[in-house]
Amino acid sequence: MVNLLHDVVIIGGGLIGSYSALRLTQAGCRVLVLERKKRIEGKAVCTGIIGRECAETFAIDRKFILREARGARIFSPSGKELHIIRPETQAYVLDRVALDVALAERAQNAGAEYVLDCAAQNVQISHDCVEIRVQREGKPGVFSARSALVSCGFGSGLTESLCLGKANDFVLGAQAEVAAPGIEEIEVYSGREIAPGFFGWLVPAAPGRARAGLLSRRNPGDYLRRLLGYLQSQGRIAGANVEIKYGSIPLKPPAVTYGERVLVAGDAAGQVKPTTGGGIYYGLLCADFAVATLVSACQSGDFSARGLALYERNWQQKLQNEMRTGYRARKLFERLSDRQIDRIFDIIIDNGIDKELSKAGDVSFDWHSGALLRLMGHSVLRGAFGRVIRPFQ
Ligand SMILES: Cc1cc2nc3c(=O)[nH]c(=O)nc-3n(C[C@H](O)[C@H](O)[C@H](O)COP(=O)(O)OP(=O)(O)OC[C@H]3O[C@@H](n4cnc5c(N)ncnc54)[C@H](O)[C@@H]3O)c2cc1C
Repeated sequence: MVNLLHDVVIIGGGLIGSYSALRLTQAGCRVLVLERKKRIEGKAVCTGIIGRECAETFAIDRKFILREARGARIFSPSGKELHIIRPETQAYVLDRVALDVALAERAQNAGAEYVLDCAAQNVQISHDCVEIRVQREGKPGVFSARSALVSCGFGSGLTESLCLGKANDFVLGAQAEVAAPGIEEIEVYSGREIAPGFFGWLVPAAPGRARAGLLSRRNPGDYLRRLLGYLQSQGRIAGANVEIKYGSIPLKPPAVTYGERVLVAGDAAGQVKPTTGGGIYYGLLCADFAVATLVSACQSGDFSARGLALYERNWQQKLQNEMRTGYRARKLFERLSDRQIDRIFDIIIDNGIDKELSKAGDVSFDWHSGALLRLMGHSVLRGAFGRVIRPFQ
């Protein structure tokens, strides 16, 4: 038997990797984190919105919160407005970079070892260890551990090479930081000209600043430049000549998120709300399941796929219904024309459904299936869109 220095090697020191590293070291595991970037504080392409439940569950320190939001202004393709607002704070806008850096520092202070500028290229599983082949500072190398947690975000190809499948549906995101002195509420924009099948956003962040972005199946940069021009013409932002950053978001998990000696979590595992693309809360919830499974595997020495399957059962039990309902809603929304979206706005406004949704106890920022089913079950909407929304009934 090889004498391994580490119980768990974590591939990817982003939010989910560093959170898991912290929890695993606190539970007594010896943890190594391999991170491709030269510095943790590299570019994070994320708007940083989380719901209140996430902030409370994971005790997010107030120093990472840039803004609080009680609701949002949602615009139809022709400019009709829904204003969903509640008396209490519903969501927070985070400084994602500061949070990632702080988590990595806490994990290191707790004993996790970080190797930066180290890109994992291949994971090999043998009967007594995992071997990770890397490019470290441009040179090839190998690291070994008893087990691996793959948390390297979407699109690394590692889940395919482990025969776990890949998240085969995804969307492209583009975002820019803009000067927006008067923006106090989250704004959401819809329509084929803005973000076909998805939506664009303007989200207040630091004082006088906002994050403008959108999701799209293609050319997100072109659509964002157009949205920025529109927002500038409306006086919502001060200038449109800004740097655009890009990222991809999985909309579905790979076929399997565990194997012998290996688990997959976060965006790498497609643990994302398919409605909005938000992955912070679901990723953190799943990281807790991954940590619990790995801690007990380290204690028992059972790293078999059968033993680690508990991880997938646990996270699916928590999220699968939400993710399935959200995915169906997402596919439905992508098929709607601008006229149909406008018609839905009319029905919602004319029938006071927005006010119902604002008051409903089962509607939350993090769990969308309640609101979706309530909306789809509404008699007027069913009457107008019966055939389209049948999958929900
Ligand atoms: C435009 C945009 C806006 C978003 N806004 C929100 C939002 O408002 N709210 C929300 O909840 N979610 C949002 N998301 C999604 C959210 O950013 C992700 O769900 C979240 O970052 C996932 O965390 P992660 O740790 O799994 O992956 P990541 O944050 O992507 O971290 C993965 C890490 O792994 C490293 N890595 C990658 N490959 C390798 C490798 N081969 N070897 C070693 N290291 C590697 C990367 O450098 C990175 O540090 C947004 C996404 C986009 C694109």
